[in-house]
Amino acid sequence: DNNQPASNVDVLIIGAGPAGIMAAAWMARMGLKTRIIDKRNTKVFCGQADGLNARSLEMLDSLGFGDRAWKEANHMIEICLWNPDENGIIRRSDRVPDTPVGLSRLQQSTLHQGRIERFFLDNIKKYSNDTIKVERGVLPESLEIDQGKVEDQNAYPVTVKLRFLTEEEAAPKQLGGSKVSDGLFRSNLFQEADEDALIKQTYDRAGAGETVHAKYVIGCDGARSWTRTTLGFELEGEATDMIWGVMDIIPFTDFREYTNPELKGWKTDMRLCQADIRCRCAIHSATHGSLMIIPRENNIVRLYIQLVEVKPDASGRADRSKITPELIFNAAKKIIDPYKIDYEVCDWWTAYQIGQRVGTNFDAHQRVFLAGDAVHTHSPKAGQGMNISMQDCYNLGWKLGLVCRGIAQPSILKTYQSERRRVARDLIEFDNRFARLFSGRPAKDIMDAEGVSMDEFKEAFVQGNMFACGLSVDYGPSNLVLKPGDAGEHGDGSDVVPPAVSMSEADFDRKQALAAGIPVGMRFNSFQVLNQSDARPWQFQKRLPADGRFRVVLFAGDVHHAQQKARVEAFCAKLNAPSSFLHRTVGGDGRDGLHSVVEILTIHSAKRWDTELLRDFPEVLHPFRKATGWSYDKVYVDDVSYHEGFGEAYKNYGVNKERGCVVIVRPDQYVAWVGDLEDFDKVQAYFEGCLMLKDYANEVESSVAAIVPGT
Ligand code: FAD
Repeated sequence: DNNQPASNVDVLIIGAGPAGIMAAAWMARMGLKTRIIDKRNTKVFCGQADGLNARSLEMLDSLGFGDRAWKEANHMIEICLWNPDENGIIRRSDRVPDTPVGLSRLQQSTLHQGRIERFFLDNIKKYSNDTIKVERGVLPESLEIDQGKVEDQNAYPVTVKLRFLTEEEAAPKQLGGSKVSDGLFRSNLFQEADEDALIKQTYDRAGAGETVHAKYVIGCDGARSWTRTTLGFELEGEATDMIWGVMDIIPFTDFREYTNPELKGWKTDMRLCQADIRCRCAIHSATHGSLMIIPRENNIVRLYIQLVEVKPDASGRADRSKITPELIFNAAKKIIDPYKIDYEVCDWWTAYQIGQRVGTNFDAHQRVFLAGDAVHTHSPKAGQGMNISMQDCYNLGWKLGLVCRGIAQPSILKTYQSERRRVARDLIEFDNRFARLFSGRPAKDIMDAEGVSMDEFKEAFVQGNMFACGLSVDYGPSNLVLKPGDAGEHGDGSDVVPPAVSMSEADFDRKQALAAGIPVGMRFNSFQVLNQSDARPWQFQKRLPADGRFRVVLFAGDVHHAQQKARVEAFCAKLNAPSSFLHRTVGGDGRDGLHSVVEILTIHSAKRWDTELLRDFPEVLHPFRKATGWSYDKVYVDDVSYHEGFGEAYKNYGVNKERGCVVIVRPDQYVAWVGDLEDFDKVQAYFEGCLMLKDYANEVESSVAAIVPGT
């Protein structure tokens, strides 16, 4: 319809679930003209995902609202494993920490998806000055990519036609027939979602519409992604015959490890009683299937319940009319027997069939991207859905922002698929193993080959936890991560631009040993350091906020040692030379002067009292500007604090206290490179390989002007 109104945007986001709003949060930060649409008329109010793993909490913190989630969430500290004893009666066999100890300052927590979405929406409003709002009741009708324009950075090659739905069309319908809200309408037990019917309807109607021309589109429209289907991409993988129910209830239960003289071998000391309903529990019953307990905020508990009696029919789908809250809860009662469980309040329930699938493609021409459930589906028990979906867009958002603003080279967008498709495949592998072990009947004894060994389950569970907390992600080599190896081999995108510096495994290992606790490709861990100027303790990760800037972290070592001081000065002289990348970045907002695109942070290891910011550190590490004065927030020290102990950052990062090292950190807190203070040329090559830099020869004058204090 040529009469439809038309508009241009930098980024159009389709779908406002966890993936979409994470993308919108980055766009708000990066100042891009962005629209985000969702066909639903409301956000999620109950049910669905509720687990925030350690990495997601770190991400929310970097966006500025981790504290809100941390404060409201239920912290899951301990996991109890329950298995049948020799009499077939379930007993607590093990306790393990939920988040592996020492990995992160934040631990796995649970909070309702609707609250998390609320925090995001507030944050997006603040950073976009209320210009980015979720537009609800809007459905995309067609998407076209003009391939002749995809190489032109100023063009708007993607055209999407939108249609505005009526109130009634945009309201999700409850299909379960019960009074309690259920998630069945979105469950994969249903072949045809109500949205499919909607799309058909809207084609027949002549409702109001609009044409949007976008530089980039991100399809975050969930497991049945319209964007994915429209691009002609598929999810590869299979459904299993394992069917599970989910209920959010406030339970009344005597579930605990307790005295029962009639049960042989049970503990008789009442003081050992423990209300395990407030711990995360994995329960394997002898014959009735498995149950996962997830304690949540406000005394709510989520139960994931295996429905051994419900089987898919010939079409591979379960008979949905059989699935009711009563059926699900009866299954739970059998699994938890001999304990009793009941409830008055049920907040939400649903059921799903386990299936593990990964998208064949995560982008088209690096102009349309797919993220979240649109490119990976799996069972929700390990709490990965929301986390990995948000993490996809945490990876994509800054790249898109930097390219769109002309700060970074468009080729960095290729790393989205190479980095995230690998994570998705790892996720599917993990979920496959975990779901199989969790849904399998426990082995009766060593001879029982069909049963699942509980030792194997525990091992997989503990190992899986490392993955599940989101901290095992290790990105492969590309122009964003300087490590050896074939970029294609490590990821999925064989056309990813290789690292700007090629190096042997041995050379890499030697450099990595300079900071054994800061592995290249993984996220920068956090330890406490003190601000050199005012002695305030900081978790160092707090100094790596999500503002789209790369960071060079100079571990300056013992700056009072003459030889080391000379090394620091030599590094800084190169950093501050007019030919340095630091003076040649483009497109930054200028808010932090010289550090607007790449910020330089320093951590030294001399005594704080013996050290002076202005005397002992070259100015490039804490630049002066007339408008803002000296930068007091860029130089830190690894020293004892007055009130919060000693972070021992050098020791924990594995950095030598005399000699230090240099680390490049990406805007998403992933480590891009580790090297010596003499390796400035590598730092330079890294930024030449991924940023747009002013041509030095033609720009000498303006570059020199930029380093004079006060400009
Ligand atoms: P979604 O959250 O699915 O968001 C997609 C959004 O896109 C929706 O708002 C939808 O309305 C919109 N949309 C879809 N199609 C269109 C279109 N054509 N046009 C415009 N908008 C569109 N995860 C866990 O970790 N733990 C759990 O216990 C858990 N339980 C779940 C239970 C159910 C019933 C479901 C459906 C999911 C559950 N998940 C769980 C998974 C978790 O909710 C998802 O993994 C997560 O929400 C994925 O985020 P997303 O943004 O990719 O997709």
